Amino acid sequence: MARRWIWIGLAGFLIALLSVGLASAQAAKPLPSQLTVSRLSPIQTPAGTSLQLIKSLPPGDSDLTQSDLQAQAAPPRQVTALADPSNYGDRYATDIDGRILQNDFIAVLHETVGSAQSAINLFRTHHPRDQDQVSYHALIGRDGTIYYIVPPEKRAFGAGNSVFNGPNGPETVRTNAAFPPSVNNFAYHISLETPGDGMNNRRSHSGYTQAQYASLAWLLAQTTIPDSRITTHQAIDRSGNRMDPRSFNGQGFFALLRRYPTRSGLSG
Ligand SMILES: [Zn+2]
Repeated sequence: MARRWIWIGLAGFLIALLSVGLASAQAAKPLPSQLTVSRLSPIQTPAGTSLQLIKSLPPGDSDLTQSDLQAQAAPPRQVTALADPSNYGDRYATDIDGRILQNDFIAVLHETVGSAQSAINLFRTHHPRDQDQVSYHALIGRDGTIYYIVPPEKRAFGAGNSVFNGPNGPETVRTNAAFPPSVNNFAYHISLETPGDGMNNRRSHSGYTQAQYASLAWLLAQTTIPDSRITTHQAIDRSGNRMDPRSFNGQGFFALLRRYPTRSGLSG
């Protein structure tokens, strides 16, 4: 039951995002009403499973205050900046052994460790070699602008060796014999532009802007991905060298996300 609603919600989300992309490519005009997920029944998730992956992260320096915790009334600025097709692919229906894949979607949060523009330029570069191919679905700039890079129905290459340990147990999918299994087949990857003092490999930095948190919450509020399936690259990584998004305020972010009426049944 829950699966069916997630798929219907996702379908609505994809259509909404595609129409957003088309709209923003034409002109910066007001967006059509796209909160189709608000008509869906709440999704039931097991109690106590939400937040456990992100909540344990230490808050960043730019903590959200109570007055910041308001659902954003107007959509943020949105720009379509599609990646070169070599940097993404189709989502697979079966894994490398022919097993039918039924994973629900997860959202994976990242940071760019560079400017938004340099990340976009990298994704626009043609990468014929598999090992060079990289992408996120969306990127959120310091000013809150959302850049749509890979269409949501496609498979972005946002994570390498990875597993999602969620309410349904460990989930990972192998689709290529040359690479370890990963979450990419069922992931929606969103990256936050790193602050100026974070263009390095230190463990923390000054954190993300309120505009970034607001846009991230707005974007995820368009989906029916439950809180318990919103995670970080650090949490899913099995290589041991991914820390992103560093200095992410998970507690403040989820408080912000839950201000959206469409999220009320999704928090578990
Ligand atoms: Zn990452």
